[in-house]
Amino acid sequence: MHNSITVIYIISDRRSGSTLLENMLSKSNETVSVGELAMLKGHIKKEGPGEIWNWNCSCGKPVLQCDFWSKVLANIYDENFETKITWPYKSSKALSAALLPSITKNNLLKFIHTKKNIQTTKKLDEVYAAIANISNKKFIVDSSKDPMQALAVSECKNVDAKFIWLSRDLRAITYSKLKRWKVNKRSDKKPMETLTDSFYYKRICSAVLKIIGNKNTIKINYESLAADPQKELDKICKKFGLQNYAAPEFMELSNDHTIAGTPGRFERKKIAADDSWKDFYKQNKLLNVLGKVFNSL
Ligand SMILES: [Zn+2]
Repeated sequence: MHNSITVIYIISDRRSGSTLLENMLSKSNETVSVGELAMLKGHIKKEGPGEIWNWNCSCGKPVLQCDFWSKVLANIYDENFETKITWPYKSSKALSAALLPSITKNNLLKFIHTKKNIQTTKKLDEVYAAIANISNKKFIVDSSKDPMQALAVSECKNVDAKFIWLSRDLRAITYSKLKRWKVNKRSDKKPMETLTDSFYYKRICSAVLKIIGNKNTIKINYESLAADPQKELDKICKKFGLQNYAAPEFMELSNDHTIAGTPGRFERKKIAADDSWKDFYKQNKLLNVLGKVFNSL
């Protein structure tokens, strides 16, 4: 058992490059990247998001048959197993927290202090310990994204939790979500609603970051990361005490055992900023202006 386990948790919205960052961080000799740990139970049960890859681990095997996860879960998987913090995304309390982060700390903490979430937090602690033990790595990269899950991880007793807030232009996030939903027909939300929802999500992330504090957090934006991966990785290494290493040129899986992530992660791809959203806003001027305003808030 390790005395000190460090979890590097990526907070972000969907379609913001969290899988790219997770993949980049997995290339360090000191890390083990597990993908989105919050989705572990769903992948074991084959429920919820993950149908496209049949909820398999990125190695291609079902989680309980995978070399890595079968060992991690050997002594800790039971019928009450849970790795996902649940919270009322659109409740008025969360909304007020998004708008007035300074006075609503207690409301957000209440979300993670329900009986069920306290149990889940304890289980996450056990899972991280088992991952450290099996991988023999000091740093665990968890790209679960969810800000309330991050708050729970910050309360895990056995881990030293560090956080990266990965942000991206809200117009790009909106365009990318709409495009993805069109492909998998999961939602028929309109552009304006998608943009305001993304803004709202960003405000929740901001409120959570304020509670966690600056000492253990770093803010990175997708655009800078894609333009100069080495520079942004060096910043992260310096902040969290990792040794510097060469940034990869390609996003690719190599002996990874990661849970969930962007559907495009199975292809080897050159790392470059995705600007394909820009044309969309030439035809959507009001949305473009509103997106710029939301970006600045
Ligand atoms: Zn695997």
